[in-house]
Amino acid sequence: MIRRLVAVALLALSPGLAPRVAGQGMASWTPAGPAFVQISVSDLEASVEWYSRVLGLDVVREVDYGDGSASVRLLRRDDLVVELIAHADPIALDPSLADRPGFRSLGLFKSGFFVEGIEALHEWLAAQSVETDARIGTDGALAMRTFIFRDPDGNRLQAFESCEASCGGPEVRAGAPAAAPAAPAAAPVTPATAGGPAAGEFSAVLPHWCADHPRPGYASLARIPVASEWFEVYAVGNGVYAIYEPNQWQEVISYLILGSERALLFDTGMGIASIRELVSGLTGLPVVVLNSHTHFDHVGGNWEFDHVIGMETEFTRESAAGSPNEEVREEVSTAALCGPLPAGVTEDSYVGRPFEVAEFVTDGHRISLGPRTLEILHVPGHTDDAIALLDRETGYLWTGDTFYEGPIWLFWPGTDLAAYGRSTERLAALVPELTRVFPAHNTPVADPVRLTELRDAFRGALDGTLEGVVREDGLVSYEVGSFSLLLQPPDRR
Ligand SMILES: [Zn+2]
Repeated sequence: MIRRLVAVALLALSPGLAPRVAGQGMASWTPAGPAFVQISVSDLEASVEWYSRVLGLDVVREVDYGDGSASVRLLRRDDLVVELIAHADPIALDPSLADRPGFRSLGLFKSGFFVEGIEALHEWLAAQSVETDARIGTDGALAMRTFIFRDPDGNRLQAFESCEASCGGPEVRAGAPAAAPAAPAAAPVTPATAGGPAAGEFSAVLPHWCADHPRPGYASLARIPVASEWFEVYAVGNGVYAIYEPNQWQEVISYLILGSERALLFDTGMGIASIRELVSGLTGLPVVVLNSHTHFDHVGGNWEFDHVIGMETEFTRESAAGSPNEEVREEVSTAALCGPLPAGVTEDSYVGRPFEVAEFVTDGHRISLGPRTLEILHVPGHTDDAIALLDRETGYLWTGDTFYEGPIWLFWPGTDLAAYGRSTERLAALVPELTRVFPAHNTPVADPVRLTELRDAFRGALDGTLEGVVREDGLVSYEVGSFSLLLQPPDRR
């Protein structure tokens, strides 16, 4: 699991109240029609500064509640009225909602308003380093162009512009031919020229993280054409296919490893589309399944296979029971996707299906695919059942979630830092024998030297010689080039 924290806004605020200068970008869009929104903020002064500077609003009223429970600033630009409210105790629900039986807070809401000059606004926000959708999308049902941006608290604001006569271009990708192999669907488009569709019919606007696509690491890989609209397949080594799920925020990668007598599927992904169907198009060999570890994002398709090999751990046995809908439904929510779901998969129907382990094994176990032999290295830490898989002949090492290029989660309940440290030492000791490293998220091929960097960074994070950055959510991030380590602060490790 890696993806859920990326939505945290890390925006720098310029200190104090900078005088507003009507720059070209700000002046060339205007509110279109009346709108009123109330937005809850954590730092009233900083938010007033932000809304004044970024959206060109002026303060027209200031109210501080006599009992100190909240302060309000009313801001206005033409017919657009924004009320910023800072509660003294933002955890308590607004007392005016207390008399509504069964009221539940369901998280952040979204506020929207209408504009003229949506492209100018989009450009202006990008120039202000505001967290913004990479592209302006088209919502055909509304006949409007639209995009979402965030204020410094992470509140989502959505701008709309009517495009009755000029929406132009195809609205959605659904039903259109699959993108050519060299041009994955989510190619970035610069804001100034964005005129095309942003998304499939599942959503008018792509979640912000989709702007990472396509990741540069894929440009040099050979993509294998497959019938699937969900998976992408790349040839990444001798008899090795990477099976990537690019449009879901875990960006998980499973691997099909071929021998002459049988094939091994290392992880089975999210279980959103049938990986068995995909694999049967890639090989006619009998397939055994082995998991890098049994978090839900790596075992989703296990149930489709008869022969699943599992590590002899309690964690594996528990994971085999599957994950109920309430634990995984967010994984197929709009925020988690930048492409359409396969037909029939919905937030209400998606579950992690239970599976059966046919064979339990331990550290050092060898699996022969004839003549290729793979060796299991137990590398606990991320989970108790985490393994790496080694092909000594070719020098290939599959690392699961113990290493990938991205933020490596080492703060999650169940993480054993001492064990993780020993595991990184063990993997780093293999580096001289390795030619390629295949991680389980984001990009499929990494230089083995990353494992030396991982060992050193983890040592440094624990003994204090590597400096970390404290994030807004309190976690500490240790940045090491192409990856980072995310840990609890030292007093909570
Ligand atoms: Zn994972």
